[in-house]
Amino acid sequence: MFRSLHMKLVMILLLLITSLMTIVGAFMMTNITRFFIDEFYQQVEGVFGNSDPTNGAFVNSLRQEAGQEEGAVQTLQRMIEAQAGDLGLNSSTRNYYILDGRTGAFLAGSESQAAFEELPVTANLLTARNSIAGGTSQVGDQSDITAGYMDVAIPITGGDNAFIIYIYDNRDTVSSLNSQLFLIIVQALLVGLLISVLLSFLLSKTMVIPIERLTERAERVAAGDFGGATAVGSTDEIGVLTTTFNDMAAVLQDTLAAVENERSKLDTLFLHMTDGVVSFAGDGSILTSNPAASRMLGREISFYDYDALFGQQFPLRQVMGLQRPNFLSGELSVRGRILELYLAPVPDGGSGGAMAVLHDVTAQRKNDDMRKEFVANVSHELRTPLTNVRGYAETLRDSQDIPREMEESFLDIIINETDRMTHIVQDLLSLSRLDSGRADLKMVRFSLLDAMESVCRAVELEAQRRGHTLERRYASPLPLITGDRNRLEQVLMNVVGNAIKYTPDGGIISVDAGVRGPNVWIEVSDNGIGIPSQDRERIFDRFYRVDKARSRESGGTGLGLSIAREIVERHHGAIAIADHDGPGTTVRILLPIRQKQEAGNE
Ligand code: ADP
Repeated sequence: MFRSLHMKLVMILLLLITSLMTIVGAFMMTNITRFFIDEFYQQVEGVFGNSDPTNGAFVNSLRQEAGQEEGAVQTLQRMIEAQAGDLGLNSSTRNYYILDGRTGAFLAGSESQAAFEELPVTANLLTARNSIAGGTSQVGDQSDITAGYMDVAIPITGGDNAFIIYIYDNRDTVSSLNSQLFLIIVQALLVGLLISVLLSFLLSKTMVIPIERLTERAERVAAGDFGGATAVGSTDEIGVLTTTFNDMAAVLQDTLAAVENERSKLDTLFLHMTDGVVSFAGDGSILTSNPAASRMLGREISFYDYDALFGQQFPLRQVMGLQRPNFLSGELSVRGRILELYLAPVPDGGSGGAMAVLHDVTAQRKNDDMRKEFVANVSHELRTPLTNVRGYAETLRDSQDIPREMEESFLDIIINETDRMTHIVQDLLSLSRLDSGRADLKMVRFSLLDAMESVCRAVELEAQRRGHTLERRYASPLPLITGDRNRLEQVLMNVVGNAIKYTPDGGIISVDAGVRGPNVWIEVSDNGIGIPSQDRERIFDRFYRVDKARSRESGGTGLGLSIAREIVERHHGAIAIADHDGPGTTVRILLPIRQKQEAGNE
């Protein structure tokens, strides 16, 4: 309770008032006593002269009277009573006594002897008596504020007689005045205390209540509730503090919102990033991980720790011992996928920790492998005809008497082989153009039926030569489609050509087409040698051939279907080998009737 600001304020005010009143009271009471003492001695001095009584006229006349043989005491008494007003004598508090100068015995006075005898023998009285005994006349007029009285003893000697006129004030007037004053001070103190309590309430209204409100708000802000701003009721320091606090809370709220925003962005990024991220505490337990990490490692990794996940690659201590920005990297193979692993130390409080980043490089490696394989294939495909050309050319050069027919057949082979190389190079160029996106498609609206008929007419002769039956079954009417006619004819030519090539003589080749939804479909079927199911997807790979020798024999480069797929996909279509049992092959092509970019045009 006494710790509250309000109570402290009350206590401070009470202490202040009490100490102030005590000091003022003590000061006043001391000064009043001093005033009365000074007043007393001034009055005495006014009547008897200063401390040297030899100078005073009144004292001299007292001395003259004291020298009388008879009635000296009475005369002195009369003379002093005549001065009673100036001396401030009154029977109750201030009295005079005429004493025997040598014995100090009571001779006369404003009070009885009995009353005198009750008075203490004071230092002033003794001074006067001693001075008479010593033959001098020393007035005892030393004041003592601590004593409970005021007195003065004036030795009066005349002839043989010696008297002491002793004036004694019991200071009752001062005491009663002081008690009155004390009472007033106590009353003032009580009123002061009451006022201070009231004042403290008033002050608390202007000082403590705003501070309490501010404290309450600060507590709410600390708990995350930024609520409305605290009202500013004044322009003093508390008002400035409140305004500053409101500003600070607003800035804090904005900063927190920005931090929260950034955090949620980071969370989203962390959640959806393709790389796996796992952070570990110093003891190897998992702190955070993203779904990609679990996906890549093929298990819910939150159930494991560092040693179980990467302990075999690098011990955690080794990772944590690294100096930033150094890191360790390695490779993991999980369920046929190749993962690159990066491990770096992370300062995490006192113990530190580690961070693991997993990067799936399977596709990249596959691409690398494919690229290497492709280069090897290209070299191989070009080397074979080149070897043949060189072989036959050398034979022609070295042999003297080759029959004419043989020479011609050698030259035919050389020409065929160079044609083949030209084909390969042309096909590679087409592929490279399609790959790099440099091959611009000349999109036009054209009749699919016309295109198919033109392809069939081109291969008809070859089909007849091989004794194939070429059947066409088109759903009528076939629509106009948008595409690069030449390239699509190149696709059809390749597919129909393959059907003719890979079907033993006298086969049946059918070309069907129709409309399905927004697409047209084309199916080229034959009853030839067929493609084993495990090769059906791979034949679209570059240079892939089921039967290399046969393909080469028939002039194939192994690039036709790769080019066909690239062209069809550039038209947003699809090409695949249909899964079916039995002999023969069915190639299916699906093409959109309209290309996406023209949707808004018509
Ligand atoms: P190629 O120039 O060798 O014909 P393609 O890319 O056109 O190259 O075809 C790839 C491989 O697919 C061919 O070598 C062949 O083994 C196989 N193939 C393609 N079409 C057929 C088909 N109709 N029947 C059987 N095999 C086929």
